[in-house]
Amino acid sequence: MKTIGLLGGMSWESTVIYYKYLNRMVRERLGGLHSAKCLLWSFDFAEIEAAQASGEWGKAAELMVAAAKNLERGGADCLVICTNTMHKVADDVGAEIGIPLLHIADATAPAIQEAGCQEPLLLATAYTMQQDFYKGHLHENHGVTVRVPPSDAREEIHRIIYEELCKGEIWADSKQTFLEVVEQELQAGADGVIFGCTEIGLLVSQQDFSIPAFDTTALHAKAALDFALDG
Ligand code: GLU
Repeated sequence: MKTIGLLGGMSWESTVIYYKYLNRMVRERLGGLHSAKCLLWSFDFAEIEAAQASGEWGKAAELMVAAAKNLERGGADCLVICTNTMHKVADDVGAEIGIPLLHIADATAPAIQEAGCQEPLLLATAYTMQQDFYKGHLHENHGVTVRVPPSDAREEIHRIIYEELCKGEIWADSKQTFLEVVEQELQAGADGVIFGCTEIGLLVSQQDFSIPAFDTTALHAKAALDFALDG
């Protein structure tokens, strides 16, 4: 089994889910007392969030590169950035390390394609929904075109992610907001829903929707595990 390097803490609420998924999947596949070999670098998310909010992506990239190098030096065989948003600097990080970076969009696209979805709805932070680093990656590398909610819904989803989900707060009203946004977009043509933020699975699940849901946290963890157990 190879060692998975996790860049986490963004937020730790979702890193915990990665850790659980990885260990459970190893147990399911190998049985007995087997569990995942992994190294975790867990950021103080306040520092990352401050860099995001002030648009200092170069500073965020520097922090990520330094942490990724530490994981590589520590023996990680691959790198997993446990957040969709911080894939904004994935190329900067990937260029500075000698181990493969397993991109979260590469882990998600095959599931969308297998389900035959033509116009999945992307629910994520405003950075991920509005900027091109994630949508562009899906489109250019996988031919997947996503739709995003209207601006008022994007704002509210972003708020819920940072003010609630990243603090472990799960509220029924916020779940209702997500359900309403998806219902409206479904009427407008969405045929799938991407949980494009690693905390969204804390609030909603496939059972809440009549269209296929793609939880990037679960798909990314599975891709990491496939890498670790390959061969
Ligand atoms: N974990 C979230 C994501 O997947 C949001 C927090 C962050 O900005 O990293 O995008």
